[in-house]
Amino acid sequence: MFNFRNMSCKELMKVLGLGAVAFVLGVEWLNWLKRRLRDSRGPLKEVLFFPSPQVCVEHLFIRHKHFPCACPLPHGVETSFSRLLVHLLSARVSLDLCVFSFSHMELSRAILLLHKQGVVVRVVTDRDYMTITGSQIGALRKAGICVRHEMSSAVHMHHKFALVDSRKLITGSLNWTLTAVQSNKENVMVTEEPELVGPYQQEFQKLWEANDPANHKPQYTNGQLNIKTCKDK
Ligand SMILES: [Zn+2]
Ligand SMILES: [Zn+2]
Repeated sequence: MFNFRNMSCKELMKVLGLGAVAFVLGVEWLNWLKRRLRDSRGPLKEVLFFPSPQVCVEHLFIRHKHFPCACPLPHGVETSFSRLLVHLLSARVSLDLCVFSFSHMELSRAILLLHKQGVVVRVVTDRDYMTITGSQIGALRKAGICVRHEMSSAVHMHHKFALVDSRKLITGSLNWTLTAVQSNKENVMVTEEPELVGPYQQEFQKLWEANDPANHKPQYTNGQLNIKTCKDK
């Protein structure tokens, strides 16, 4: 075919140039193919079922290459609970959380960590369940996280959903309690489908505004104001 020795310098440059163009086009085509394959799967969809076996999740909180953990729990095992934590801890800008009952220590730790990292956390919870033994709501408020609760005493704020960076929806039957995570049959769906994320974000905003303490008359229990006002960030 080509006899390089008989080629002029000009011809050789032409062949090399064509080769370079072919190489670049090949790389471009591979990238295009990769994008097509990824797009055909659509936005993130994941389903998690509980109960979740107890495993070590320490590495999700402390990101270190060779983290030595001496705890007796199994290590390097992915579970529904560890996936839930991964999704929550992926928040970089905001976390909007609607949860009926919140007493799970590790989930509380995750929310406090996000708050510390500068993620804007907003929580809407139930009026009756926020004061039960073990509730983490007090700890969140103490840390400066904005928590609002259902103002009406006639209805429960029974939702269990979270919005990560207004882009990822985590929703299902799971209350944020140890019993729900470790014992109950529960389901959680994680999705970045905009047509699902959008209405949940609107619903959160609606609940957030409807339960703004500023719009309600102060209520007193045993002479103490029981509504904590919280400045919006
Ligand atoms: Zn461990
Ligand atoms: Zn209150």
